[in-house]
Amino acid sequence: MNYKDLFAEIAVQAAQIENLGEVAAYIPELQRVDPLKFGIHLTTLENENFGVGDYQEKFSIQSIAKVLSLTLAFDLEDDKLWRRVDVEPSGTPFNSLVQLEYEKGIPRNPLINAGALVICDILVSRLKNPKREFIEFVRKIAGNQAINYCQRTADSEKSTGYKNAALINLMKSYGNIHNDIDVVLDFYFHLCSIEMSCQELSQHFLFLAAGGINPLNNEKVISASKSKRINAIMQLCGFYDEAGEFSFRVGLPGKSGVGGGIVAIHPGQYSVAVWSPKLNQKGNSYKGMKILEFFTTRSESSIF
Ligand code: GLN
Repeated sequence: MNYKDLFAEIAVQAAQIENLGEVAAYIPELQRVDPLKFGIHLTTLENENFGVGDYQEKFSIQSIAKVLSLTLAFDLEDDKLWRRVDVEPSGTPFNSLVQLEYEKGIPRNPLINAGALVICDILVSRLKNPKREFIEFVRKIAGNQAINYCQRTADSEKSTGYKNAALINLMKSYGNIHNDIDVVLDFYFHLCSIEMSCQELSQHFLFLAAGGINPLNNEKVISASKSKRINAIMQLCGFYDEAGEFSFRVGLPGKSGVGGGIVAIHPGQYSVAVWSPKLNQKGNSYKGMKILEFFTTRSESSIF
């Protein structure tokens, strides 16, 4: 595939797609972002790199970080993890409380807020200094020391995080949260506040395209079997109640965040990240999804 030519086409396409949707407003800090920002970056297993637009600008990766917390918790807990969180698509919004009562505090999957909060609880139990050890784990994956939390975003989310507080309290009542809820929430808000650029994201997530090993520095992040399973969870659960739509239109495992970022993986080939802050009604980047659909259609590189 001649990605260079395709990326030139993507630049034209991106300018033509209407910038519909709304920037996330429920986290005040996210509203400060310029809604016209757009970037995309592809990294292949052979370390070819292609980018267009604001692909070097850092943004709030939000729920994309849930894939990284899942990776660390799965590595530490093995299959014990699945006693506390399931691997089924939710079909409900990312912050929904509805299923949680029916299912007695066991979240549908680790990529919705409830599931990510359980993962955070597990990491709080497992790590001596969760915030520090987690960011060190993230930095080590791609050998990138420049990755950090954004304190302003974490504080901003904390000040309005009523739904997350409701979710964690409900799970605590069912015995599925073992630590102090304020400690777990603080860790969760920090991991959502991590900032990366599209370029950093696509390089970072390459380990999931390469059986758990980052080919850029030969760093083993997770076993091949676990890497495969994380991809399976992303395929079915990475876009909440729009996971079917993303599979149908883009055809890759992926994960979105309310900062407007999306990362998608083609196992054995590449990792691609896109950023456009305006979200559709399901909380996924409007233009980001359209551009990824264009990308996998033109490159004929969906996994199906
Ligand atoms: N920090 C956000 C929240 O908890 C993450 C949601 C998302 O990116 N979908 O609401």
